[in-house]
Amino acid sequence: MLTTVLHDLIVNLAIIISFLFISGQFFKQIPMHKSIKLKVLGGFVFGFMGIVLMFFSIHITDTTIMDLRNFAIITVFLSGGLLSGIITAFILSLGRIWIFGVSLSSIIGVGTFIILVLVCWYISKRKWNPSHKFLLMNFANIFIVFCAYIILITDRDVLYTAILHYGIINFIAGYAIFSLCDFISRSNEQYRKLMESARTDFLTGLHNVRQFDKLWNEHIQNAKQKKETLSLVVIDIDYFKRINDTYGHLVGDMILKEFAQVLKETTRSIDTVSRNGGEEFSVILPECSYEKAQEIAERIRKSVERRTFSISNAESIHVTVSLGVVSYPVPNENPETMISTADDCLYQAKRSGRNRVVAYSY
Ligand code: GH3
Ligand code: MG
Ligand code: MG
Repeated sequence: MLTTVLHDLIVNLAIIISFLFISGQFFKQIPMHKSIKLKVLGGFVFGFMGIVLMFFSIHITDTTIMDLRNFAIITVFLSGGLLSGIITAFILSLGRIWIFGVSLSSIIGVGTFIILVLVCWYISKRKWNPSHKFLLMNFANIFIVFCAYIILITDRDVLYTAILHYGIINFIAGYAIFSLCDFISRSNEQYRKLMESARTDFLTGLHNVRQFDKLWNEHIQNAKQKKETLSLVVIDIDYFKRINDTYGHLVGDMILKEFAQVLKETTRSIDTVSRNGGEEFSVILPECSYEKAQEIAERIRKSVERRTFSISNAESIHVTVSLGVVSYPVPNENPETMISTADDCLYQAKRSGRNRVVAYSY
């Protein structure tokens, strides 16, 4: 009998492990709790997992079977919260009635799902760490299932065997499931951090040049397809080398950080601000005409000029910037050459005295 139980337990764990790995891929980019769509998706995936588990029951004795379906609710609750938990429980209830028909044990089965959802909801609201929450949810689950067994199983010997086995199996499975969920969520978190750092400039937190290239190409395609205007402003801090030479590299870094802040403050939320390298920055302005882009560039220039950048408690300095502006669409202008055209404008702004905006004259 023990070999049958072990065999069934291993099959169930294999199903759960496969589902956890696959669902981990769904939520690799964005965690389940971040959007309603993902919470609903999570609810369905785990509901499906619960139904599969119902088909692979663990045979404790010839007459007593059990499965690990309730772990679908507990696990999804920890990742997606109440909405995911309700969807999973709802799918499990439908599955329970569909597979086993309407009977007292089906009704009690559905009752256990509802009580488990309520208990998990209460526990998930607490500010405890996830392992404690999981342990408590598992305890609560075992207790709820014990109560269901007491109502359903009249033979004392069978009842004791069922309770003993359910308790032991749930602890083993619970430990394995929590360890795996923890591992998957940690590695997904690391993956997201890695992706984020590959896109972000470490000093200013703005997009880096790689991300700028990607976003710029997307904007160009979008502007061409939808025949929308698109502008680009490139910015370079004037005489930045002098600041470094006079006050040191650390002060230079502080200024770059504050300057990034000024750019964020002076542009719209739909604009893309990047640090393209050293003290060179850019702003992609979607749905922005040639005239409007010049206004924005001028606004940036003035904001920087007026700003006092504090470099210590007692001292602050002023910096200026030169800017090049280019817009799409323009006659005979190839969007692919817009970046070098904007750079040419910036170069002209430098040559004609700095602290100014030069827009490409069409
Ligand atoms: P121009 O007005 O012609 O732009 O003069 P500039 O001095 O700003 O231009 P240049 O290209 O000669 O110098 C850019 C300086 O930016 C040189 C480099 O030391 C500094 N720089 C580049 N990256 C960083 C950085 O991450 N931190 C600091 N502090 N300085 C940087
Ligand atoms: Mg410079
Ligand atoms: Mg430069």
